[in-house]
Amino acid sequence: MTYKIDDTHDPDLESWIETANDSSTDFPIQNLPFCAVNLDDEDEDDGDGGYRTAVRIGDELVLLDVLVEAEILDEDETPETWWELCMASPEETTMLRRQLSQLFRKDNDELRDDKDLREACMLDADDPEIYEGLEPDDYTDFYASAFHATNVGSMFRPDNPLLPNYKRVPIGYHGRSSSIVASGTEIPRPVGQLLPGATIDDGEPILAACKMLDYELEMGAVIRGDSELGEAIALKNAEARLLGLTLVNDWSARDIQKWEYQPLGPFLAKNFATTVGPFVVSMEALAPFRCAAMERAAGDPEALAYLKHKDNDAKGGFDITVEAYIRTAQMQKQNMSSHLLSTGSFKHMYWTLAQMLTHHAVGGCNMQSGDLIASGTISGPARENRGCLLELTWDGDPFATPPVAKPGSARTPINLPTGESRKFLEDGDEVILRAHCEADGYRRIGFGECRGTIAPARKV
Ligand code: MN
Repeated sequence: MTYKIDDTHDPDLESWIETANDSSTDFPIQNLPFCAVNLDDEDEDDGDGGYRTAVRIGDELVLLDVLVEAEILDEDETPETWWELCMASPEETTMLRRQLSQLFRKDNDELRDDKDLREACMLDADDPEIYEGLEPDDYTDFYASAFHATNVGSMFRPDNPLLPNYKRVPIGYHGRSSSIVASGTEIPRPVGQLLPGATIDDGEPILAACKMLDYELEMGAVIRGDSELGEAIALKNAEARLLGLTLVNDWSARDIQKWEYQPLGPFLAKNFATTVGPFVVSMEALAPFRCAAMERAAGDPEALAYLKHKDNDAKGGFDITVEAYIRTAQMQKQNMSSHLLSTGSFKHMYWTLAQMLTHHAVGGCNMQSGDLIASGTISGPARENRGCLLELTWDGDPFATPPVAKPGSARTPINLPTGESRKFLEDGDEVILRAHCEADGYRRIGFGECRGTIAPARKV
């Protein structure tokens, strides 16, 4: 494994930043996720330097460049900007994690007792204005949950839900980076071509606002370092090319998708917005929460050699609990907390992130530092594990014996505590994605929240 468990994962470590010691925080000293920040009073026009790198601990964000200026961190070894971070090697980020873990420990007075420096380097993490979100040059979305692919396939092709390529090749499509937005950004309801009936025989398409707006609960990986055109990334080297993981909401317009997706895949159904979480949890922080990749069922084809995990990288999976919540405008008005829609685990993915990256590059596509690859909707074997409304409200169950998967099968709406119900998202609905990791002998760490509220469509 590239990323090892060391004393930075010690569950007994405590910080002088008291909010990091709260047992319910996502951000104890064992986590230290990265985020890109932009402060209003700054000159943004600093070329390729991009946004400043900060680390979250407890309720604070700590700016790395201020620690460099104060000579607490080394100028040559510290990624002060987001793009420098995305170019950093695993050795460099592991070293940085060790230094920061030391600096924040309860008994370390270097920053703890320096009030002026503390005030200069620490920001209130609750201020939503400072988060820039990721701005990757390129973005690819995979389809790596066989549960998701089987559910969705069953709706459209009940006799043949999984196409023959699914278990042989990690399926993905190239997404749109321009519409990747930071958590909290309002999402205008998309407009597109919709069929008035089930098929073209029932009437010609119209241009209209999407009526079947959905979210997709996903994890995204940030790529580190550049590769050359024509260069492959061997599976055993793929994890060293991952900086860390973040929450991703791949908003999806299902009615637009249904009409446009054949033969080339989603287009306007997905390109209107994708929301990314504010924090990138490092591969180092995730080391205690690795697990075996999902086992291939008896009778499944073997992966081709370039995609086959060997014993020494057998822990290709991640044991990350993921959750989706909704908070309607009515719930906000009544001051009600959000309602849990689904909970699942990232360990249920059929393909590992390393396999996705290796496959992505094997044709010769150059990967760039800061690129985002998302996993595809994270769904599991049970109904409550379904990571989008398209699956959650669908009454079919391809895993039941015998399978229940009739075309056009009924949808049961989700009933909310206000008395409202939802089959798909309505204007004013906020979707909140959360994720966390827990394991015996380790401190719980989390990913914060990836939020987005639906705004009305423009008039068409
Ligand atoms: Mn997706």
